[in-house]
Amino acid sequence: MTDTAQENRPLIAGNWKMNGLKSALAEATAVRDALKPDPGTPEVMICPPATLLVPLAELAAGSPLAVGGQDCHAAASGAHTGDISAEILRDAGASAVIVGHSERRADHGEVDRIVRDKASAAHRAGLTAIVCIGETRGQREAGLTLGVVGRQLAASLPEGVTDANTVIAYEPVWAIGTGLTPSTEDVAEVHALIRKDLETRFGAAGRRIRILYGGSVKPSNARELLALPNVDGALVGGASLKAEDFLAIVRATA
Ligand code: PEP
Repeated sequence: MTDTAQENRPLIAGNWKMNGLKSALAEATAVRDALKPDPGTPEVMICPPATLLVPLAELAAGSPLAVGGQDCHAAASGAHTGDISAEILRDAGASAVIVGHSERRADHGEVDRIVRDKASAAHRAGLTAIVCIGETRGQREAGLTLGVVGRQLAASLPEGVTDANTVIAYEPVWAIGTGLTPSTEDVAEVHALIRKDLETRFGAAGRRIRILYGGSVKPSNARELLALPNVDGALVGGASLKAEDFLAIVRATA
């Protein structure tokens, strides 16, 4: 999956966003039941809303299905009404947390410094940080993509990043939930830049840090996106809500 000697185990992570009543656990159960405990298969994760973390972790226990949070606060605990810490996520059964999703950046004013502190908090709690970066439509049209992504990457990653504790998700903002995707050439170009920057900063670990593509991944386009160099998996929004579609994307890594 990469253009280096290192073959990184693909990760397919589903971001349910603010979707998921208790009845949605049936979809997670169907995903769990289809997975085989084989290191030759992709790692599969669902990031449900916080209310479903514990029941989802319970149903996934002992199976290859991993559970992640969608955001965390930088502090471990305290007076932050409505927030959730990395430690609480870990206690609920999560092994990872998404930080810096463009919807958090846009809706909650999360700038790179905040994202970096959240990634640090994830590491402190023993979670893998899935750090999201990506350009807006205006930035893409102005030819600013590589500069924007490079700057976000540099400023959103804390010290102490390893291939075990960090995953990057390249998600062009204009591709999220729109049905639009960049050309395969454009995805490959951005992933190559991210890989180069990771290697420059983190050495050998930079070759093994997984880089996911996210933005309107669906069963019909997953195979060609996942076959690109330096694409080590996908962060999937809408298409992760139905087990059938999500599993079709998981199978597209083969
Ligand atoms: C996302 O929000 O992370 C995402 C990739 O959404 P979608 O797949 O729906 O574009």
